[in-house]
Amino acid sequence: MLRITELKLPLDHTEQELAELICGYLKVAADDVRGFTVFKRSYDARKGVMSLVYIVDVDVANEDKLLVRFKGDRRVMPAPDTNYYYVAQAPETLKQRPLVVGFGPCGIFAALLLAQMGFKPIVLERGKEVRQRTKDTWGLWRKSELNTESNVQYGEGGAGTFSDGKLYSQIKDPRHLGRKVLTEFVKAGAPEEILYIAKPHIGTFRLVSMVENMRAEIEALGGEIRFQQRVDDLILDNGQVRGVRLADGSEILSDHVVLALGHSARDTFQMLEKRGVYMEAKPFSIGVRIEHPQSLIDQARWGKYAGHPILGAADYKLVHHASNGRAVYSFCMCPGGTVVAATSEEKRVVTNGMSQYSRNERNANSGFVVSISPEDYPGGPLAGLDFQRELESKAYELGGGDYFAPAQLLGDFMAGKASTQLGSVEPSYKPGVTMTDLARILPDFCVEAMREAIPHFARQIRGYDLQDAVLTGLETRTSSPLRITRGDDLQSLNVKGLFPAGEGAGYAGGILSAGVDGIKIAEAVAQAIVAGR
Ligand code: FAD
Repeated sequence: MLRITELKLPLDHTEQELAELICGYLKVAADDVRGFTVFKRSYDARKGVMSLVYIVDVDVANEDKLLVRFKGDRRVMPAPDTNYYYVAQAPETLKQRPLVVGFGPCGIFAALLLAQMGFKPIVLERGKEVRQRTKDTWGLWRKSELNTESNVQYGEGGAGTFSDGKLYSQIKDPRHLGRKVLTEFVKAGAPEEILYIAKPHIGTFRLVSMVENMRAEIEALGGEIRFQQRVDDLILDNGQVRGVRLADGSEILSDHVVLALGHSARDTFQMLEKRGVYMEAKPFSIGVRIEHPQSLIDQARWGKYAGHPILGAADYKLVHHASNGRAVYSFCMCPGGTVVAATSEEKRVVTNGMSQYSRNERNANSGFVVSISPEDYPGGPLAGLDFQRELESKAYELGGGDYFAPAQLLGDFMAGKASTQLGSVEPSYKPGVTMTDLARILPDFCVEAMREAIPHFARQIRGYDLQDAVLTGLETRTSSPLRITRGDDLQSLNVKGLFPAGEGAGYAGGILSAGVDGIKIAEAVAQAIVAGR
């Protein structure tokens, strides 16, 4: 198979034109090409002309001769092998089943891979199965009723279930593990296009049924998923984990425990600290969600091509390095989506964003956040949690209770005055917003850096500084505020058999990277079991 990169065609081209371009580039007859697959499709809007840019893998006659002919052409090369190969197989007599705590993307992939290698994992998930969890989550959005064990953060599918389902990441991935994640998603019902478009997304509805299908596969391979089973303690023996203790007091023994907790398992982090598991504070970011009309973003990004079906709703990615040393950036942008209430704790307000596959809601939203570091919240590994909690409680109070979020018009935020009414942009956050002054609860250095960033962002996205754009707060759970540090064997630095994984442990940020980390962890667990470690 040959790979050709940078094949460019206009937006409205046919499949035949792509085939002709391939033959033309390779200078071969159409009959010589047995078939081709699109490995990646992105777009290029330079010089005001929108084009689609392809990387294709071509099955062609006389491949070796072509490789010689195109030697020195960096656009033609042998297609790399992106297949996944298992690193171990469970012994016939498996003495103990590994435990996976948490069934978010990281736990799902850890369990799936362990099951595929024959290790029959037991998954312990504190929340409920995804359909029931969906009802509970809507309970907060529609009726201001929070279930602290079944919500946006906790339950089958993990934190990204009610999301835009963006599936890209900037992690280094020399083994193409991201491809394995995407391939499994497609098997579970995701659209095939996620395998080749540059910035794929799935949207909430599809994620729900995909998660159920992945659960079914794990079970069919001998794994087990137990819901409403919160791990409240570790059983330790001289620096070796021997199992876990559940909220109901029962114990499950295993010398191999994956902790795929997500960034919101604050009670579990506290337990780990009490048990002496090595952790350290790490940087994260805080800020607000910003909402603009999606049509404004489409116009700014696509110009005359706005509304073209192949482009869909436009996204953006913005960064500004402020003069006070802070990075201000857009986070988890959701085109055509809604801002959601994402708390897992009572009397706290946290924002995030989600969308459906169609991305056809009126507004675009994204986190508008500022980097912070452990110097901003000194006091040990858990100090970041306290910092988040304090901000989330202040947001609840400023919102006026009942999980209403404090909100402000961008124009008022820039002018340093409280908002009293909405303008042309209707915020999507439910149960509702209270217009106020967000600078009252954000640290001064954030406010300063955010105000400085706005004109810079508006230079990249015309209209970003729209006076009526709505800021809703607070965005505090951008990533884990701590790291459960692991060694080269992917085990905790000081507890053998404990495998901290995914976003909560500080080793992933987003669905794809959490899935990839789940695969790596499954491999490490499998290799440790096979080696008798
Ligand atoms: P999680 O998904 O958080 O899963 C952890 C699981 O562990 C949870 O189900 C929790 O209930 C369980 N758990 C915790 N403690 C215990 C315990 N003691 N016992 C048993 N179970 C426990 N990322 C993207 O890439 N694209 C997006 O579009 C996107 N949108 C998002 C939208 C929202 C609203 C949110 C909240 C997040 C979004 N993210 C998105 C981030 C993404 O969801 C996370 O990065 C990802 O889910 C992390 O995966 P994880 O498996 O490490 O942790």
